[in-house]
Order: sequence, then structure tokens, then C-alpha cells
Amino acid sequence: MEKKVVRGAAAVMLALTILFSFVLLNFPDLHVFALQKQLEYSTRIGHGDSVLALMREETSVLMESSKTTKMLGQLRLELPGDIHEDDIAIENHYIDQTVQIKIPGIGESYFFDYPMIGSSDHIDDIIYEVENDEGVIDIMLDQVYELDLTVQESYIYIDFIDPHERYDKIVVIDAGHGGSDPGAMKQKISEKDIDLAIVRKMMALFEASDANIGVYYTRTDDSNPSLEQRVQLANLLQADLFLSVHNNSTASGRMSGIHGTEVMYRVSDESGKSKAFAQNCLDALLWNLGSQSKGVVAGDEIYIVRTAQMPVALAEIGFMTNQEELDLLNSEEYQQRAAQALYDAMIKTLEDENGE
Ligand SMILES: [Zn+2]
Repeated sequence: MEKKVVRGAAAVMLALTILFSFVLLNFPDLHVFALQKQLEYSTRIGHGDSVLALMREETSVLMESSKTTKMLGQLRLELPGDIHEDDIAIENHYIDQTVQIKIPGIGESYFFDYPMIGSSDHIDDIIYEVENDEGVIDIMLDQVYELDLTVQESYIYIDFIDPHERYDKIVVIDAGHGGSDPGAMKQKISEKDIDLAIVRKMMALFEASDANIGVYYTRTDDSNPSLEQRVQLANLLQADLFLSVHNNSTASGRMSGIHGTEVMYRVSDESGKSKAFAQNCLDALLWNLGSQSKGVVAGDEIYIVRTAQMPVALAEIGFMTNQEELDLLNSEEYQQRAAQALYDAMIKTLEDENGE
């Protein structure tokens, strides 16, 4: 019994040796390196493990062993032969500065079989996970970047571009609340849905515009980024304007006759630009909606207003605790007019700044 086991183990060792020699003789350095790494790291990476160190090692090995490695981008991703570029999904999640790449049909040895190489200059970490026969690569970046993709043969090259290189102006638009936080809630109508509906209408306006403005959204669906993430997006982008869209309610939350539009600004912004932006928003909203003015008001007690490092405005379009205004806010037509007003106010504010 014991002898058999020893003999079996010896056979396995011999087979491994032959295999390793074969690989050593027939393949370039990288494959040997990959095998070594596979033994060193454990052969399975795909449970939410960091692969950043592995990428760094693979990159330095390839750079040393190859004379021809002129990178077409900052990161190089290799696709298995049977996978077409159209099969993979690359999403840029600006809100948490993560680029997510999904490749179907790759498993736990992907990073050994197809080493990802590149510079880690702007990369804080890379996490790899295999879910339902799909490899998910999360690249955590140190900043908000736009992506430049180049596909050549079985390689995808990814470059991270500073948004300021791409756009003349950058604005961030925040739909209030979201997810488990509905904001004000009246008669089964949630503020979060009205805020988002208005922001999505603004999105359509910006998309139809030919101004070279980069518009970033804290959310475009029913997600609920933290307040820190919302401000961080604007601050990291060094946005020219930051607008947050909300709707009001009375302190008690009870229905009342109180109605109207108010816009908050940051008093501690000594340049006065936050107030000027808020005033433009208020003027345009009153003009488009015909609502009652509740003025521009100090918003420094609100976290996102206080911590924004650029001209910021937080618009409270109307009162959900006023029946007439609630009905209006819940209509597509009124939402469209609010969106147009805020869009016009942002364009005007950017133009005013340029004129200075
Ligand atoms: Zn709100």
C-alpha cells in the first residue's frame, strides 16, 4: 500500500518534470513565468483576489524578455482566441472610480494564461472574480478617468484619459436620494423618483447639445451613492459646476399650503460664484415653472453644499407636501420644464464665467 503511493507520487513528479521541461523548451519566457507564478500564488485566482502585484511582475518579466513591447495603451488585456471583443463588457463607474471588465468564459487561471500587463501608475488595485462562468475584473483608479480603447489582434489596450483633456467644461449633476432612501414621500410618490426623472431629462438635453461639456451624474438609476461619494465625484473631477436636484417638504411632513422654489448655495464660497449659480437656477426655474420664489438660501449646513470645492447649487424645485405642487411635480411636462430651466441655468453660468 505505502509503496504504491510512493510509486504513484514519483510518477506524478516525473510527469510534471517532463511537462515542465517541455514547456521550458518550447515556449518563451512568459509561459514559464506564468507557470512559476501559478505555483507561487496558488493556481486559483478568482475569488475577489487582488491581482495587482501579479500584473506588476508579469509586466516587468515581459518588458525584460521582449524587445518589441511597445504598448499601445496603459493597460493591455489579452483575449482568449475564442472570445471576440464584442463579447466583453467594459463599464466605467465614475462614482467610485472603478472600471469593470466582464469577460465570458474565462476562469480562475485567466491571469496566468493571459497575463495582463501595463503601468499601474493610476491604479490603486485590481480585483479578479469569477462569477457564473464570467470573469469580472475591477480596476480601482486613483481619479476619474475617461477610457480610450484600442483593439489590435487579440489585445485590448486601455488608456486612462484626464476628462479635462477631452472636455472644455465639466459639470456634475446629482439626483437626490435613491435606493433605500426615498427622500420625501407623499401619496406613494417618492422624491427620489422625481429628482431622477428631472435629471434624466437634463441628460437628454445635454446629449442633444453640441457644447463640449463633460456631464457626470452621481446616479442615473435607483442607486444611492453616499453623500461622500457624490461630493467626491465633483471634487475629483474639479468640476466647473455641481448641481443637486431635490424637492421640498414641510418640516412636519404634513400636507400644507406652503409651496414654491428655493435654491441653496454655499455662503462660505467667498468668490460669490455659488450664489450666482444658485440665482441663475432660481431665475430660470421661476421663469419656466411660474412657481413662487422662496429665494436663494444658505445651504452650508448641508454636507454636499458645504464640502463642494466649486460653485454649487442645490435646487428644491417644489413642495411635495403641497397638493397642487405635488401633482405638478409628478407630471412629465412639469419635470421637463424644470429640466430645461436647470440646463439653461448651467449653460448661462458657464457662459458668464467665460465672459469674465
Ligand atoms: Zn431631498
